[in-house]
Amino acid sequence: MQGLGAFATHAIPAGERLIEYAGERLTWAEAEARYPEVDGERHHTYLFAIDDDVIIDAAVDGNEARFINHSCAPNCDAVVDHGRIWIETLHDIEPGEELAYDYAYLLDERHTPAAKRRFPCHCGAITCRGTILAKKR
Ligand SMILES: [Zn+2]
Repeated sequence: MQGLGAFATHAIPAGERLIEYAGERLTWAEAEARYPEVDGERHHTYLFAIDDDVIIDAAVDGNEARFINHSCAPNCDAVVDHGRIWIETLHDIEPGEELAYDYAYLLDERHTPAAKRRFPCHCGAITCRGTILAKKR
């Protein structure tokens, strides 16, 4: 898995709110100016979109939540509650288990095979879809 990763130091029950995904609150224009999208370059920022107006940049004033990796078969979920993002457990977690949630990125453009290759996933889950992009309906 990419980056550092976050691991449970003790057993955690399902449905537990673990940590806020903290960071500086940006508009989309501010985020795009800070991290211009470069063609063919691997995406590696700590941005998390709350809605059409607000993006959290965990690279500024962020906390440990930014080290939680993506998984296609996650044990956590990112929940938006009153304009803030919280990482919550989806099921019981064993000590030492890696915490992960589905990043489920959405691009404005179509999620073509080329787009998916720019956002690859190697989580190793049987159900791995090969990309951290969400399924578009
Ligand atoms: Zn995967």
